[in-house]
Amino acid sequence: MITSIRYHPLIERDTDAHKYAPLFVTTDEAAVRRAHSYYLEEFVNGYYRLCAGKARALPDGGRMTIACPVCGNRLENITAGKHTPTQALYVCRACNN
Ligand SMILES: [Zn+2]
Repeated sequence: MITSIRYHPLIERDTDAHKYAPLFVTTDEAAVRRAHSYYLEEFVNGYYRLCAGKARALPDGGRMTIACPVCGNRLENITAGKHTPTQALYVCRACNN
């Protein structure tokens, strides 16, 4: 178990395909929010919430492909299809099975 929330700033790898990959891990959300457009909040070990930093507005989480910070596999959007998805939640099936 983790005792503090971890943050994973995202870098855009492919604009057309909406592919994103995490850069590093930190517990300093304020710094991440200032410096990066989007980031993942790891609120429970292995579960990630998509957040907007300096981009201000959330992207369409359903269109984004995000790599797992641990193993690099594609994260699965577990909020896809829900109504008013203000913040998309992701989980890595490879790490959590
Ligand atoms: Zn993983």
